[in-house]
Amino acid sequence: MSQSGLHGITGLYAARLLRPGDPADGRGAAVRTQAGAFKYGLVLGNILPDVDFFIMGPAYLVEGSAALGLHRSWSHSLLVQGVVSALLLWLWARGDPGRRGLVQGLWLGMAMHSFADVFLWFSGVRLLWPLPWGDVNLWRHVTPPGWLSNFLGAADYLFFALFFAYLARVARQGNVDLELLPRIRGLNRVLYAMFFAFTVLAFVWRDRTALYNIVDYALFILVFLPVEIWLLLRMRETMARA
Ligand SMILES: [Zn+2]
Repeated sequence: MSQSGLHGITGLYAARLLRPGDPADGRGAAVRTQAGAFKYGLVLGNILPDVDFFIMGPAYLVEGSAALGLHRSWSHSLLVQGVVSALLLWLWARGDPGRRGLVQGLWLGMAMHSFADVFLWFSGVRLLWPLPWGDVNLWRHVTPPGWLSNFLGAADYLFFALFFAYLARVARQGNVDLELLPRIRGLNRVLYAMFFAFTVLAFVWRDRTALYNIVDYALFILVFLPVEIWLLLRMRETMARA
């Protein structure tokens, strides 16, 4: 699975290292300044490459192994990320510091995501897709047992909850987006329960990885990844002031 929440935590932590100071200087929206937009882009960029799940999910129902091959390819390619970001900088962000900061943050965040994936999740990353070389797979000779790959799916719910709790803490410290905090608390209660339920299932269904994956991926793609993206869009100011 993608551990999208873990990528979010990495991005938010990196954004907070970019202190000091509130980039808005107390005036207006931080997310429109170059520094604030850069921080927001950095968090978003750390999560964005896994949108390939929205294509991979339906494909998995048709042909499981081929669908898994679609993950960590085009959206994780440093070439694609670089070309798209350069085009956006040239065509959309020229002359606008806020847009420029956003695209620069996205660019760095997406590259961070791709490099992190090289070391995680027992899977290769096609860093130079569509070129035939540049595939990095440190795990070629490692086959994780069924229960472990299932458990990594369960851990997705835990990392979502930890990321949302971290976002809520940053929001409280920045005194922004406070109206969303009760919803995050409610959502996290559901996520902790899901983590518990799927951890039990990971062992009960350890020989039924395909069934476990279908249920797990369906919830991930249809519910929790969209909820995460919605929160990221709503809490722009929190991340810009991180
Ligand atoms: Zn990824």
